[in-house]
Amino acid sequence: MSTPAIRRLLRMICLVVITACLSVSYSSRAVSVIHAEYDPAIAIPMQPVIYREGETDLIMPNIVELQEDSEAFFEPNTVKFRAKAKEIVERWYRYLRRQLWTPQHVPADDVIYLLYRKAPSSGSAAATASKNYIFFYDSYTNTPEKEKTYGTVIHEIVHLLQHNYMHHWAEWMSEAIAYYIQHAYFESWSVNIFMDITRKAMVEHQNGKTIETRFHNIYCRKEQVGHCRGFRERGYIYKQDAIHTAGMLRLIDSYHPDKRVVETLHRILYEKAASGTMKYSNEDFSNTLLELTGASLDEYWCDYMARVTGEESKIQTCYRPRIYQYLPNFLPQIW
Ligand SMILES: [Zn+2]
Repeated sequence: MSTPAIRRLLRMICLVVITACLSVSYSSRAVSVIHAEYDPAIAIPMQPVIYREGETDLIMPNIVELQEDSEAFFEPNTVKFRAKAKEIVERWYRYLRRQLWTPQHVPADDVIYLLYRKAPSSGSAAATASKNYIFFYDSYTNTPEKEKTYGTVIHEIVHLLQHNYMHHWAEWMSEAIAYYIQHAYFESWSVNIFMDITRKAMVEHQNGKTIETRFHNIYCRKEQVGHCRGFRERGYIYKQDAIHTAGMLRLIDSYHPDKRVVETLHRILYEKAASGTMKYSNEDFSNTLLELTGASLDEYWCDYMARVTGEESKIQTCYRPRIYQYLPNFLPQIW
């Protein structure tokens, strides 16, 4: 080979190596940026994951995208969404399965389908989940990036982990847990943000746009009579919209940061449903909370609402005297 030819060859090798190095550094930079954005440890200070006996770190479901008669699959906004959603599922499914102590084996452990479809009507849900399917609707995925929140993906992952009990009478609580994980873990909402939402909902309620009506529109269509009745019978007026129950869970959690109340509730619900011992009643949840934390569902709800309405002097009267005497320690500064 002549000298110029060798030089050309060397230059080419150099270029290939540099390009490879650049692409590696670019991709590792991209990964680290995403890592910082989605790092669960940043979302909420968490206790370390507790592994069950015999558990390994090998659960890595395949994630398969499916397109269902929607050209929107290739719309630029949806294409961006798909990439990010897939990555969030990859990063969060295993993490949440561990944090929630969901026992093996859940349907989504092997494969998770992300199914993109056309919204059946305007105002339909952004996404839904069932077994190992997450359905995303184009009315949501096609919206500009700024208007979307990826917390929805987290919410639906939680529903995959709840498959054992979410379609039963306990739905108001399964929804609340999904909202809690979405907003408190992923979006770092303080109890204050939840309370603001409840406060606004109360104002709407007073203006005649009732939460019950809104709730009815969301949950009582498609003749889901059972779900609808479940909320009505098991819930109370404001608890019927599960975001408010999620706010109450956030409050309970801030009282007992060491007790993993929400994670434990999820596990209890899952195991009770699996063993057929679930009563699906408010009393059942209340007794679980009482055992776990020393106060009941109604006591916590009363406290949450007293804070929402700015009647903080009432908080102490929410609790039984036995609890009340512990209040100074029991109620830390939560703002
Ligand atoms: Zn939901």
